[in-house]
Amino acid sequence: MSSSLFESVDCVVIGAGVVGLAVARALALAGREVIVVEAAEGIGTETSSRNSEVIHAGIYYPKGSLMARTCVAGRRLLYAYCAAHGVPHRNCGKLIAATNEAENEKLAEIKGRAEANGVEGMRLLSAGEARAMEPNLHCTAALLSPRTGIIDSHSYMLALQGDAEERGAMLAFHSPVTQGRVVDGGIEIEVGGTEPMNLRCRLVVNSAGLHAPALARKIVGMPSDRIPPAYYAKGNYFTLAGRSPFSRLIYPVPVPGGLGVHITVDMGGQAKFGPDVEWIEGIDYTVDPHRADKFYAAVRRWWPELRDGALQPGYAGIRPKIVPPGVPGQDFTVQGPAQHGVPGLINLFGIESPGLTSSLALAEQVRDIAAS
Ligand SMILES: Cc1cc2nc3c(=O)[nH]c(=O)nc-3n(C[C@H](O)[C@H](O)[C@H](O)COP(=O)(O)OP(=O)(O)OC[C@H]3O[C@@H](n4cnc5c(N)ncnc54)[C@H](O)[C@@H]3O)c2cc1C
Repeated sequence: MSSSLFESVDCVVIGAGVVGLAVARALALAGREVIVVEAAEGIGTETSSRNSEVIHAGIYYPKGSLMARTCVAGRRLLYAYCAAHGVPHRNCGKLIAATNEAENEKLAEIKGRAEANGVEGMRLLSAGEARAMEPNLHCTAALLSPRTGIIDSHSYMLALQGDAEERGAMLAFHSPVTQGRVVDGGIEIEVGGTEPMNLRCRLVVNSAGLHAPALARKIVGMPSDRIPPAYYAKGNYFTLAGRSPFSRLIYPVPVPGGLGVHITVDMGGQAKFGPDVEWIEGIDYTVDPHRADKFYAAVRRWWPELRDGALQPGYAGIRPKIVPPGVPGQDFTVQGPAQHGVPGLINLFGIESPGLTSSLALAEQVRDIAAS
C-alpha cells in the first residue's frame, strides 16, 4: 500500500446494517464527515433484515451488562425516534406464559430481573387475567411486558440513512473493505468492488456484523489477541398461515440457552414462530422444513389449537456469536482505543439481539468514544 494514493476522510463506517447506519447518523449529527462503505448492493441486507423486528423491553439481560443498558436506553430512544420520523411501529406488548407451577415461580424471578434493568410496567397476571387479554392463550399464569413492541425495521433504516445523508454522510454500496493497516494519525483501508478506493481515515468503525472479527483480523496493527472468535447460531422462523390468534407477542418461560419458541407478528400482520437455535459452521440461510416438528410440540404447550400443517418454512437469520455453544454470558463488545490500544479504531463485536432495539444507544456510545 503506497500512502500517497490514499484519499483522506474523517470517519469511515464499515457496514450499512442498522447499527452501522445509526452510528453514521450519530457521527454526522455530531458534525463529523462520514462515509459508509457497504459490501452489498443496499442497506440492511444481512442480519438487519433477518430478525424478529421486536422492540425489546430489556427483560432478560444480566443487570449492568451492555445489552441491558443499551436495550433499555435504546428502546426509549427508538420509540421517540419512530414517533418523530413516522417509522411504522406498534407498542403491542408481550406476555410471557407459564404452563405449570415451576414456571409460575420463574415469572417472579424474570420480573425482578427486568425491574433491576429499569424496565417499566411489568405485571404478574393470573391465568384468568391473561385469558381476558388473549383468549387463545393457555397458561397457568403470565407476565405482562407492556413496553415491548414491533417495528418496520427497513423503514427505520431508511430514516437513519436519510438523517445521515441530510447531515452530509455518503454511502458507497458494492464497496467491500478488503484490508487495512494502522498508520500514524489513523487507519488506511482498501475498498474493492465496482469503484475501488483507498481511504486514509481518522476514525474507522468496524460494524460488519457477522464479519466483524474477520475484518478486524485484516487490519494490520490491530492486536489479534483482542479479536474474539466468530461463531454462528442460526435462528429459523416458521410462518403461520392465516391471521395471528394473538394481539400481543407471546413467549414461553425461557429455557436454558434460549428464549423458547415464541410468536411475533410483523407490521404487515404476518405471524411467525421462532427463532430456534441451530449452530452452523458457515453462512447458510436455508430453513430445513423438518425443524417444524419441534415447533409444533413447543407451541402447543400454550396454544393447543395450532393445526397440523399450519406452519410454513419462513426465513432465517444468523446470530453473530463470539462465545461457543453452551457458554453463557455473551455481551455486546464495543472496543475502542482504551480496550485494544489502536487510536482511531472502534470495533463492534457480537451485536446479536437486541441490537436493533439498542442501535441508537450503541451509536451514542460509539460517538462518545470517537469524541474522547
Ligand atoms: C434471528 C435473529 C433475530 C433477532 N431479532 C431481533 C429483535 O427482534 N429485536 C432486536 O432488537 N434485535 C434482534 N436481532 C438482532 C439484530 O438483528 C442485530 O443486532 C442487528 O441487525 C445487527 O446490525 P448490524 O448493523 O450490526 O449488522 P448487519 O445487519 O449484519 O450489518 C453488517 C453489514 O456489514 C456489511 N459488511 C460485512 N463485511 C463488510 C466488509 N468487509 N466491507 C463492507 N461491508 C461489509 C454487510 O454486508 C452488512 O450489510 C436479531 C438477530 C437475529 C440473528
